[in-house]
Amino acid sequence: MSESHDHAAPLPGAGRPGLRADCERCFGLCCVVPAFTASADFAVDKAAGQACPNLQQDFRCGIHRDLRQRGFPGCTVYDCFGAGQQVSQVTFGGQDWRRAPHTAKQMFEVFPIMRHLHELLWYLTEALTMPPARPLHGELRRALDEIDALTRTGPDALADVDVAARRRDVNVLLQRASELVRARVPRGRTNRRAEQRGADLIGANLRGADLRGANLRGAYLIGTDLRGADLGVADLTGADLRGADLRGADLSESIFLTQSQLDAAKGDATTKVPPSLAHPAHWAPSGTPHAGPAASGGAAPRNRAPVSRRSRRNTGR
Ligand code: SF4
Repeated sequence: MSESHDHAAPLPGAGRPGLRADCERCFGLCCVVPAFTASADFAVDKAAGQACPNLQQDFRCGIHRDLRQRGFPGCTVYDCFGAGQQVSQVTFGGQDWRRAPHTAKQMFEVFPIMRHLHELLWYLTEALTMPPARPLHGELRRALDEIDALTRTGPDALADVDVAARRRDVNVLLQRASELVRARVPRGRTNRRAEQRGADLIGANLRGADLRGANLRGAYLIGTDLRGADLGVADLTGADLRGADLRGADLSESIFLTQSQLDAAKGDATTKVPPSLAHPAHWAPSGTPHAGPAASGGAAPRNRAPVSRRSRRNTGR
């Protein structure tokens, strides 16, 4: 899993810097484009296309240090996969919607499309790092190149992208890659390499479970006790990990796990995560009891579509 891909040409997302949010280069699109409903995740109602009241003129967040305490934990678990800076700096050439209001409508329209494309690039890039998926590397690479080319087109072409079809095609490839990778996991007596796709495991006690190679795509793991569980080479694509307790769990070789899934879960210094991801800032040090859901990352990602504004928090937005 941690081996690098074996292609001569560099991957567009190699190291994935372009697939990580760089809020300093974005015009606050994730703070404007989606609608918010006042809830445990967002303290206010906001219409789609309307700027969040906390968004400053310079596109920084005015409460970035206190998002959770101020009732905006949903902002801490959102990840645009770098779509924000791509739309701001590439699609619209650095022209922002405040100074050029005529761009706003189209910029807001293409941002969600770009986010879908960048999310697919993230997954494809990861699949290309998996040696057991080598028989698929040609197809994966072609899909990646096609989508990468789309992300560099103009706003009119982006608006015409059939996102559903792209997702469907890539998903088939990713599932095949997942099967090849997980097939390498030996079935032990206690190993639960079961088909758990979309399974309702909400609140389940899976403490210490051997989940190596499990297919947990789209599984509901909300509040699930996964302390000490071994999730090596488990496929976690789209699994809902809100409030899941990952303390002591080993996810270092889990596949198709994203930062926003980790951000929405509970964990601590004993949780092992893949090298491409980081321990969320709000996770408690080892041995510290967790507070309530908001403090522990139990907030719902917007649209179940994960996101983290880590750069924004870290860079003072
Ligand atoms: S990060 Fe800040 S400005 Fe952006 S939506 Fe959240 S509270 Fe609003």
